[in-house]
Amino acid sequence: MLPNSENLSIKDIRCRGCLSNERFMHCSQCEIRNCTKEKGYTGCHQCDEFPCQHIDDFSMAVGKKVILRAVPYRREVGTEKWVLDEEARYICPACGNKVFRGAVKCNQCKVQLNLD
Ligand SMILES: [Zn+2]
Repeated sequence: MLPNSENLSIKDIRCRGCLSNERFMHCSQCEIRNCTKEKGYTGCHQCDEFPCQHIDDFSMAVGKKVILRAVPYRREVGTEKWVLDEEARYICPACGNKVFRGAVKCNQCKVQLNLD
């Protein structure tokens, strides 16, 4: 459960991604997003300072783990392959259900997951 998330409305959780102007309420205060936008980048993969203090200070452990894994991989293989591989990664190996980053259990077959 996220802090202060007990009374979220549909509007609060609508999200069209980091690069859009319609973001999940917590993400509208994201330092990483603001930093890349100021530098004119679409992501940390374009930044010579990665991994910087913003990454070190990122408060969600799973998010930080994924950033530290995924950004170097994106640099190595390019954005298209990176997107395809990230999508393929977040599939339940037991039943094929699509799951979210940070999922610890498949919401369909209930098997334990560690995909991040
Ligand atoms: Zn499953």
